[in-house]
Amino acid sequence: VKKNGRFHYRFYRSEMSQAFPNEVLMEAHLRRAIEFDELSIHLQPQIDLQTNEIDSFEALIRWNNRKFGYVPPSQFIPLAESSGLIIQVGDWVLEQVCKNLQEWKVKGYRPVRVAVNISPKQFKQENFATKIEQLLNIYDIEPKYLELEITESSMVNVSETHEILTKLKELGVYVSVDDFGTGYSSLSYLKKYPIDIIKIDQSFIADINKDEKNEAIIKAIITLSENLGMDVVAEGVEEEFQEEFLKLNNCRKGQGYLYNKPLPVDLIIKEYLVN
Ligand code: C2E
Ligand code: CA
Ligand code: CA
Ligand code: CA
Repeated sequence: VKKNGRFHYRFYRSEMSQAFPNEVLMEAHLRRAIEFDELSIHLQPQIDLQTNEIDSFEALIRWNNRKFGYVPPSQFIPLAESSGLIIQVGDWVLEQVCKNLQEWKVKGYRPVRVAVNISPKQFKQENFATKIEQLLNIYDIEPKYLELEITESSMVNVSETHEILTKLKELGVYVSVDDFGTGYSSLSYLKKYPIDIIKIDQSFIADINKDEKNEAIIKAIITLSENLGMDVVAEGVEEEFQEEFLKLNNCRKGQGYLYNKPLPVDLIIKEYLVN
């Protein structure tokens, strides 16, 4: 690790683009992003492939820094996770989504479920399920309108995983496994834990028509979810032929630029929620 450390560091710095000269500065700015009102939520539709109707949205955080401009989540989420700021940031996202759901209900818009990305550190908080319960109460939200996306890394080596997931199940919120197929992939957690939805990682979708083994894996994941009574979403659908393949193989839902990119909430309301 030491040996490659320098190269790795330089590579990472150039990857950080023009935005922030270093992580320390980025962290300092991220620390104040909420109070300076620099964070926002975009929503991306997930489409029912049988009906072509909207099934749900995924909430994706956006950070527009007053000094350095737009910073992609791929840059600041890992930093938020390692610095612990993810708790504050994650709470903010959850609260925003709940506020939106409440507002839609009050205004009589069409109710649509929203999925929120949950980092391992957030998930492992002792009071995580209680936090969710409180939010549902405060904003008077039916649990079926909230979905939590966790990754495989949230499920391995956490002794409390079962307890947390069981509590969430009792609350009635949906739980999905994000980036399925890319993690440590012990399939045993699909057996052990009450999971509702599997999201096939976009790297598999990107390789449709390129690699037969890849296609066999996608088909197997779809069949697996079906047999386990779980729902399945394909991520990163960009092309018609990818959608064709997914429909042909009975994938229930799709998400990706083919349908829409993540959009600011006011545009989502206009496009999807008012009749
Ligand atoms: P993810 O959860 O896998 O989210 C999907 C990513 O794919 C999003 O990138 C989305 O904009 C992008 N995407 C959607 N459709 C397509 C497509 O057709 N093609 C391609 N190439 N990409 C597509 P984004 O918004 O930049 O987010 C990147 C990652 O950052 C997310 O990956 C997630 O891991 C993390 N993230 C985003 N928002 C949050 C958040 O509120 N909390 C946490 N903990 N993580 C977040
Ligand atoms: Ca996600
Ligand atoms: Ca994903
Ligand atoms: Ca991802």
